[in-house]
Amino acid sequence: MLNDRVAIVTGSTRGIGLIAAKELAKRGATPVITSIEGDLIPGIVEELKEIAPNTVGFEADVTKRDQLQELVKFTMDTFGRIDILVNNAGITKDGLFMRMKPADWELVMQINLTSIFNLTQLVIRPMMKARYGRIVNIASVVGLTGNAGQANYTASKAGLIGFSKTVAREVASRGITVNCVAPGFIQTAMTDKLKPEARDAILSQIPMGSMGQSQDVANAIAFLASDDAAYITGETLSVNGGMYMG
Ligand code: NAP
Repeated sequence: MLNDRVAIVTGSTRGIGLIAAKELAKRGATPVITSIEGDLIPGIVEELKEIAPNTVGFEADVTKRDQLQELVKFTMDTFGRIDILVNNAGITKDGLFMRMKPADWELVMQINLTSIFNLTQLVIRPMMKARYGRIVNIASVVGLTGNAGQANYTASKAGLIGFSKTVAREVASRGITVNCVAPGFIQTAMTDKLKPEARDAILSQIPMGSMGQSQDVANAIAFLASDDAAYITGETLSVNGGMYMG
């Protein structure tokens, strides 16, 4: 159980982040709902309060370090602690490498990787003081395999895995674990954008023969955020229906 744990989940107004925040709440944690789309936050906070009465929300664009600073300050002022950080917010901006625009490379790197450097650095201080922390970073199967048309996205996710291993080594002695969950193809708005041919091609590579659900990923996140995973750090847990068994 995650009783009394305070959990920031970025990008938690929809998709995997929303279901992860709900799962953490069901297991006893208090989620801090955050995303760039402020209008959605109040409704989700109200819904989650039925499971975790102290749930709060905070609008923050993860590409802005000052807004992340405000998010951390708000959480510390409200609860006096941050036990769990789920770095979930992420985007795709696909295109073949030869034609990829530098701006699309930059934006994906900013949202999927630089933001995680920033927020993790801000959160690690209170975690080090408390000598406790669980950081779960959402990578991707394609960060392990590569994927045509996703040079920016795969680089960001592979970078995230290396980053997580390094930070895991640096903070292990302080009771803080840093792990990744690497989802395969999960049914969310991100994958709803796929053309039917691309979807069929992907399904043919998945031994289980179906796309995953956000709940499958949320279960793995909640496990790594729990005390059951206390001796696991620097790990990447695949949730991919057997698509890649690295
Ligand atoms: P999604 O449904 O598109 O949700 C993405 C979330 O990130 C949204 O809440 C969005 O907020 C937030 N976000 C985007 N840009 C942001 C910014 N600048 N600042 C703050 N929040 C921002 O995506 P998903 O499929 O749930 O993906 C979640 C994570 O899993 C991502 O890191 C993704 O790369 C990873 N993943 C997904 C799959 C998959 O098959 N779906 C597979 C592997 C990995 P708004 O709603 O406010 O825009």
